Amino acid sequence: MRKMGKMKRRKVPLRTCIGCQEQKNKKELIRLVRTPAGIVEIDPTGKKAGRGAYICNKRSCLEKAVKAKRIEKSLRHEVSPLVVQELMDQLPEDEIGEE
Ligand SMILES: [Zn+2]
Repeated sequence: MRKMGKMKRRKVPLRTCIGCQEQKNKKELIRLVRTPAGIVEIDPTGKKAGRGAYICNKRSCLEKAVKAKRIEKSLRHEVSPLVVQELMDQLPEDEIGEE
């Protein structure tokens, strides 16, 4: 095995979570997308066409985003409670003991 002479510092793309509003590595966040058909859904690939918003992979952030209406604001589209519920079901429950 050869060691690399110089470590290349790769810039990590940061995105702001619409829940806690912290900047995080794009890969740690879930992308929500408003599809051209006007449906808001989770985009697991991060590649769907449409306006996107990023959120941490936890329910507390979704709750915060919903309360502050930040999903609507970032996607510039109304989000029905049904969609929110669906998103909620797809997000894991917050880990207990998380600091
Ligand atoms: Zn968050």
